[in-house]
Amino acid sequence: MRYESTPRPEIESHYHIRMLIEGQEKKADDRTYHLNKEKTKAERQDLINDAKPFVLTEFYCQKCREDFKAQSIKEVEIDWSNPNQFIAFYRTKCFEGHWCIRLITDKHRDGYWVRSKAVHRDRGVHYKDTIQPHETGFNLLYKKI
Ligand SMILES: [Zn+2]
Repeated sequence: MRYESTPRPEIESHYHIRMLIEGQEKKADDRTYHLNKEKTKAERQDLINDAKPFVLTEFYCQKCREDFKAQSIKEVEIDWSNPNQFIAFYRTKCFEGHWCIRLITDKHRDGYWVRSKAVHRDRGVHYKDTIQPHETGFNLLYKKI
């Protein structure tokens, strides 16, 4: 029983073992990061490939403050903010000749969703349909006292 009473350091807290384990964990993290990055890149490529080369789509001109529909050709360029990635978009000129853009990749960066009056109108209708009596705005909409 002499052996069992001998104090042993926790194997994982030994500095050399700790370094090995941490090294392994870091490698696994790097691999996951790399895989995620590859996945995102592949997803972007799918978005680009799936987008029609020629569309009739909605645009919003910030200068004219008007929604309009126009035909446009898909364009693909290197994303200047990230040279490893491509960015795809539709671009057209409004009736006054201002450039307007719709992003195919990076939809969250597409200003159309924030600015378009048509989008706001759709959301307004939706908002009115779903509002509940206990919510603020109900009394204003339905003039209930
Ligand atoms: Zn315009």
